[in-house]
Amino acid sequence: MKRKEVNSSRMPVYRDAGFELYDAKTTAEAFKKETEHSREPDIYIYSRYRNPTVVSAEEEIMKLESCEWALLTQSGMSAIDTALSIFQHGKDTRPWLFFTEIYGGTISFIESVLKSRRGLDIQYFTPDNGKYDPDKLEKTISVLRPEFVYIESISNPMLIVADVTELARIAKKHGSKVIIDNTFATPWLYKPLDQGVDIVIHSATKYFSGHGNLTAGVICGNDRKIMQSAIEYRKFVGHMLSPDDAYRLQTQMQSFELRFSRQCSNALKLAEYLNKVPLIKKVWFPGLKSHSTHNIAEKLFSGKGFGAMITFDFVGKNETEKRGRRDKFIKLVSEKIKLIPTLGDPHTILMPVEAVWPTKYPEPGMIRLSVGFEEYAELEGTVGTAIKSL
Ligand code: PLP
Repeated sequence: MKRKEVNSSRMPVYRDAGFELYDAKTTAEAFKKETEHSREPDIYIYSRYRNPTVVSAEEEIMKLESCEWALLTQSGMSAIDTALSIFQHGKDTRPWLFFTEIYGGTISFIESVLKSRRGLDIQYFTPDNGKYDPDKLEKTISVLRPEFVYIESISNPMLIVADVTELARIAKKHGSKVIIDNTFATPWLYKPLDQGVDIVIHSATKYFSGHGNLTAGVICGNDRKIMQSAIEYRKFVGHMLSPDDAYRLQTQMQSFELRFSRQCSNALKLAEYLNKVPLIKKVWFPGLKSHSTHNIAEKLFSGKGFGAMITFDFVGKNETEKRGRRDKFIKLVSEKIKLIPTLGDPHTILMPVEAVWPTKYPEPGMIRLSVGFEEYAELEGTVGTAIKSL
């Protein structure tokens, strides 16, 4: 029986592993064109290569990022693998330069896979006093001439905002590409491709999906050659997103701007509130004047918001007292604010920083919050009541 067209207003979930190709001529044509473009060939071959439900979700992301192409993958990590691996050309590969303040999973991937297994020449660039120095960066890039520079728009958990316009200008001058993980800022705050960045990555598990119920990743860009390499790599290693997850992602993305704008405004109010609490030693949030990259955040995000992540640290005369306050706070808020190791969920969730980064950020009182889109008064009430009981 042939599939019947029905009057649905949505892209259905196409679960076909392989699609019907009818005859040898159509088959040859389809195989010839399959890496030409992520959307254009209208004949599908095999869902690991391309799938109509996935393409439909990709089109939604292209609208958000205002870009020429977007390629969905099974997770943020598979998007990162795709974006990086297409710059590996055997013995001719120049160094890859990574900023140090990036997601811990990316650092583990760099160390365990890129360095230890693939033997790549990996270099790091470290911030000074919570900020990246452009002159030092220019010196590093001019000596190393890296294949690309890799950065996150807002780092985790210190929330350092990178001056991407300046960084892209320096990298271009020395013939390096720029890859940015824009998961924390999202295209609602700003679009790095407009600033000369070559590839934008998202863990779509986070704000795009926004409900903590699927994992996905995406890489976006405008350069056709990069797109073709990425289509090929995603196909060869099998990083393609499943049609079921693509369908759910596309549905959930319809409320992305509504959710994220509210998360950003809740985070700003909560950061200002926490900043006045005497039991809190320090609050890291790019919207606060005290943050090392507040001016960059204001410039880059045009006053729209500052993201929805906050890190703060409890006071204490010694480590035991700090840990005690941290643990009591986690317990007191646990009905409403759960300890869940992700971000971008509907409700506010938290992570104890020391437990995840024991050597990099060893302050024992530190907590990272991913602020949700619940009603603000309720959120401040939960946090405030807990703090009063510490
Ligand atoms: N990039 C950032 C900034 C992240 O925080 C994460 C995960 O937390 C990832 C990438 C990896 O994404 P995923 O867990 O979807 O593979």
